[in-house]
Amino acid sequence: MPGRLQNRVALITGAGSGIGLECSLLFAQEGAHVALVDVNEQAVQKTHALIAERYPNVKSLPIKADVSKEANVKDMVDQAVSSFGRLDIMFNNAGIMHPEDDNALNTEERIWDLTMNINVKGVWWGCKYAILAMRKNPTDESKGLHAGGSIINTASFVALMGAATPQLAYTASKGAVLAMTRELAMVHAREGIRVNAICPGPLKTPLLMDFLNTEEKKQRRLVHLPMGRFGEAIEVARGALFLASDDSSYVTGTDFLVDGGLSSSY
Ligand code: NAD
Repeated sequence: MPGRLQNRVALITGAGSGIGLECSLLFAQEGAHVALVDVNEQAVQKTHALIAERYPNVKSLPIKADVSKEANVKDMVDQAVSSFGRLDIMFNNAGIMHPEDDNALNTEERIWDLTMNINVKGVWWGCKYAILAMRKNPTDESKGLHAGGSIINTASFVALMGAATPQLAYTASKGAVLAMTRELAMVHAREGIRVNAICPGPLKTPLLMDFLNTEEKKQRRLVHLPMGRFGEAIEVARGALFLASDDSSYVTGTDFLVDGGLSSSY
């Protein structure tokens, strides 16, 4: 049976770890050719090697790039299009969280700027160059390919609700990702470009585990999680697959929560 992303071309940022790693493997399993982007070259080469080993029929292209630099973002999209001929799916997933308490009183401008540059500007540029590429996508019925495309931006549950563990710059950056996603979805809907945000809850990935770096901190967070456990990166990747594929053809501008029920709890 053909995969849900057969013949599609996807670019995934943050492909070296966590959600981006799992998503790269899942998209490849579903038949997509994948451009893998990460600022950590070793990590992205590892993802590339895993895909080559597990899914030899899929083409994979590892790219070292820093999404906070516009020239890098333009170049990574250009590389994907020149290697694979088009860009159907853009997953703007790379992001950082300062691994220490970061509240309004103690955060530093340096942390604020770094977080905004990667988490917000990186997503803006990713959207900009993806939209320019997706506008050129020809329809090819024989391969199940159509004009337009799907952009997915990783926000977070903290874009929708207040978290008691202070991460001010991070929270503000994710709110911006969600607001930007909604506006882009409205502006580009009639071009066949869907733009959605995925909002993960707390996950067992290096990003959060470096922050909750003691058993006590982990337990304090677990109290708020209805399922009593952290999410797995693959559980978010499955949500991203839905948003990337034609299964979500009438879904745009949404905040797609994969949070184990956190947003409904009290
Ligand atoms: P992770 O730390 O496991 O992976 C992030 C990857 O992004 C790393 O490989 C890192 O090298 C890469 N990266 C960082 N800065 C980059 C840059 N400037 N350019 C290119 N690549 C860069 O983290 P994760 O948990 O998989 O997080 C992925 C996304 O999910 C982030 O946007 C994060 O904010 C979001 N998120 C995570 C959680 C969670 O609990 N882990 C919850 C909500 C949202």
